[in-house]
Formats: sequence, structure tokens, C-alpha cells
Amino acid sequence: MKAYDAVVVGSGPNGLAAAVALARAGHSVKVVEGQSTLGGGARTLPLTLPGFQHDLCSAIHPMALGSPYFAELELEKHGVEYVHSPFSLVHPIGNHAAILERGVEATAARLGPDEKAWLNLMKPLARDFEVLKRFMYYPATKPPLNAPIAAANFGLKAMQSAFWFAEENFETPEAKALLAGCAAHSFSALNTPFTNAFAMLLAVSAQVSGWPLVRGGSQKIIDALLALLLRNGGEVERDRPITSLDQLPPSRLVLFDTHAHVVERICGDALPGWYRALLTHMKLAPGVFKIDYALSAPMPWLAEASRNAATLHLGGSLPELAESEARVARGELPEKPFVLVAQQSQWDDTRAPAGKHTLWAYCHVPNGSDVDATAQLEAQLERYAPGFQKQVLAKTAKRTSHMEAMNAAYVGGDISGGAVEGLQILLRPGFGFTHATPNPKLMICGASSPPGPAVHGMCGYWAAQTAIQKLRAER
Ligand SMILES: Cc1cc2nc3c(=O)[nH]c(=O)nc-3n(C[C@H](O)[C@H](O)[C@H](O)COP(=O)(O)OP(=O)(O)OC[C@H]3O[C@@H](n4cnc5c(N)ncnc54)[C@H](O)[C@@H]3O)c2cc1C
Repeated sequence: MKAYDAVVVGSGPNGLAAAVALARAGHSVKVVEGQSTLGGGARTLPLTLPGFQHDLCSAIHPMALGSPYFAELELEKHGVEYVHSPFSLVHPIGNHAAILERGVEATAARLGPDEKAWLNLMKPLARDFEVLKRFMYYPATKPPLNAPIAAANFGLKAMQSAFWFAEENFETPEAKALLAGCAAHSFSALNTPFTNAFAMLLAVSAQVSGWPLVRGGSQKIIDALLALLLRNGGEVERDRPITSLDQLPPSRLVLFDTHAHVVERICGDALPGWYRALLTHMKLAPGVFKIDYALSAPMPWLAEASRNAATLHLGGSLPELAESEARVARGELPEKPFVLVAQQSQWDDTRAPAGKHTLWAYCHVPNGSDVDATAQLEAQLERYAPGFQKQVLAKTAKRTSHMEAMNAAYVGGDISGGAVEGLQILLRPGFGFTHATPNPKLMICGASSPPGPAVHGMCGYWAAQTAIQKLRAER
């Protein structure tokens, strides 16, 4: 059997990013993927009717747009085209809406009595955005030491809970809801410390660089990485689910682009018991319930602004969002869940036949709960777009077990590689460890390692840097 310098288990954005970095450094590398389709959380597939292309998981790509490694790879030269909607984000409240625009001043100008408070918060963050990117794309072991004031200004606010920060600093339901919706991307109860970090980073990224989709679907990011891998001599094998190390081809290193819990199961005794315990103690994030729709017409949103954003946050006011996320954290299914919506086909005519549209919507459910949340999710869509059901040509729903079946890394529906909460935001998979494990041959390169979930490839990039050093040292 052919031997490789490195084998990567999993072809998500991090697995492919790691493989590309290794191949570009001159190492022989093979990616082994359990599914028949490559790309993990960045696949685009015809899930409903002929002619409709749906993002299976990720849809909106501020993190890919700002990724230092994707920039180095110049993915735009390999078919990735970022498309921006007029507004970055709309958060309907009743029949009007809170709006995140490209531009802090433009956003603030819509917030009435909160204009000044919004400017006071966001202007320094926007000014320091390049510094703050270090918190988004670098492991905690590489803090922005060259900009201590900017880091401290962010850090003092970031460690607070989004709920109390929004309550204390803003008056209007709009400003509070904008922060709450961004904080809810953490999958955590909004009164949890550090949720304000998500609120601020996502809100400032929406205003500074925008929340784009990718023309042709998220898959284009994978296609670009795959092309770079193959061009640099890398190999890929599909339909090869790995459950034990014996199934892998011989290699000097193995990098796992999968959940820490799955790494523990695959590696077994190849890892010491105390490290296996560290992996299994990684707290799981809540799961997701998702529906993809093929629509005969655009969504009949009540709030006009909702037609002008690729991303919508549905769930109402800060107290409503806090209640729904708290219920999920307690292991309950909320009656009125927080629903993330993307309407890609409005700005990308490759997604649906002329005049028709796709809609992507998911909500948070307790981890492992295989509940069908169609009624709750659709009630939220009806609330903000009454009569939308008349436009549904076809739909496909995915419970947590479906999510895990289409990606073994989604343990119990956890799409984050472990909760992004408390110290686990920074210390992934656990204290003292990032990408290397106690076994010098085995490494983690997926979202269970720093800097964590989202499509940015940086977990793979950082893991590959360590892997390249190891391979050089061996030689
Ligand atoms: C519904 C949903 C919406 C999302 N929305 C966004 C968004 O809008 N923007 C954004 O940036 N991020 C979003 N994300 C998150 C994003 O998709 C992930 O954070 C990202 O894909 C993580 O990349 P990864 O390479 O670490 O893992 P993954 O993309 O999960 O890839 C892991 C790969 O490894 C394979 N694998 C796992 N275990 C094994 C095994 N034992 N043997 C063989 N193969 C294996 C899987 O099949 C998969 O291909 C979303 C995710 C979901 C599910």
C-alpha cells in the first residue's frame, strides 16, 4: 500500500485547507472522506427539485471572506465569487426591522435614540477590525500583543453576556435585537459570559466587510480548495468512513477533520486515557434542525427591508431570543425558536430556475434531540412572512440524526465541533492542547481545534503548520 507523509480524515473546509497547506509544502497527502460528496459543512446539493441548488450547511461567508489563509490561496482566482446583498442582515421585529448595513454610521443612523451608543461601541471595533480578526482566526496562544489597547477594549466587553450588555447599553428593541441575534450564533444562552464576543465580532464584520454568499453555492469554496490540492499532487478518496486507525493507509501523520468525540473513538488506545477523557469531556453544542425550501416566488416578508438581505434573524426581541436560547440550553425545544434564514437565490441566479427561489432555514434544538421542529420553525416563518406556505413547491427537513448521518462530525447535531462557550471558546479541545495530541503521529485539524467553527479553513491551516514542522524535524 502506498505510504503518505500525511493522511487527512475528512474533506470539510479545514481538512482540505490542511491538505492543501501540506501539499504546497511538498508533502504527499491523501484526504479520506466518509461521504460520497466532498466538502462537509460547505456542500451545495440539489436537495429538492431539479434546477434548485441548496447549501446543505453553511450559506453565508463573512468568515471565509476574511480568512487569512483563503486570502493567501487567492480563492477568487479559483472560482469563488462573493456576492453581497444590499443589507448585511435584517432582523424583523413585528412588521418593521432592525438592519445591519455595510457601514457603522449607516447602521447607527437607523437606531434613533441608540445612534450615539451604537457609534460609541462600534466605531472603535470597526477601526480595530484588523486587530480583532486575530481573535477570530488565530489560536489563543497567539494573542494580538502588538495592539494591547484595542485588545483590552474588546476583551473587557467580550467577556460579558450579550443579554446584560445589550440591556445596559441600549434602549431600543432594534439595537438590542441586532446584538442578541449575532450572539445567538454561539448556540449559548444569551446570559452566558463571552456571548457578547460573538455579538460584537459578527456585528462589526457585517458592517465593515459584509456577510456575503458565494455565487454557485458554498461548494465553490470546496471546489477551489480541491483544485489546489489536486494541482499540488494531493489525493482524495470518497465513501471511506473511518472508525479505526487500521482502516487508514500508512502515513507519518494523521490529521482528523472531525469532532473531538469521534477522534477519541477512532484512535482508542493510541491515545492515553487522560487525553481521551479530555476529548470526551468536551461539552457538546446544541443541535440544529434545518429545512430547505424550493419556492415558486420570493418570500412575502412583512417588513420591506427583509427583501434586501441575504441573511435574516427571526425570533423577535432580545427577551424572546434570550428565552428561546435558554430553553435550548436547558434541553427543551422552544415554542418560538431563533431561526436563521438565508435567501441566496435573490442575488444568485444559479440557485433556482428563473423566477423561482430557494430558502435556507434552521433553528437550534437540544443536542441529540431528534425532534421534528417543522411546526415551530414554520410558525416563525409565517409570523414574518404570512402565507409563505402557498409558495412552497418542495421542502426537505433534517433532524439531528440526519445531520449526523450526512457528517459524522455532527455528534448529536452539534455542528460546532464542541460548544463554543466559556473557556472552550479558547481552549479547544481542552486545556494545554490545540492541534497536536500526546501521540506525535495524531493531530486534530477540524472545528474542535482553534480557532473553532465556521468556514475559514484556519483550524486546518494552523494544524498543517505544526504538521509541517513535525515532518521537517523527522527528516
Ligand atoms: C446548518 C448549518 C449552517 C451553517 N452555517 C454556516 C454559515 O452560514 N457560515 C459559516 O461560516 N459556517 C456555517 N456553518 C458551520 C460550518 O459549516 C462548519 O463550522 C465548518 O464546515 C467546519 O469545517 P470542518 O472542516 O471543521 O468540518 P466539516 O465541514 O464538518 O467537515 C468534516 C468532514 O469530515 C468528514 N468526516 C467526519 N468524520 C469522519 C470519519 N470518521 N471518517 C471519514 N470522514 C469523516 C465529514 O463527512 C465531513 O466531510 C454551518 C453549519 C451547519 C450544519
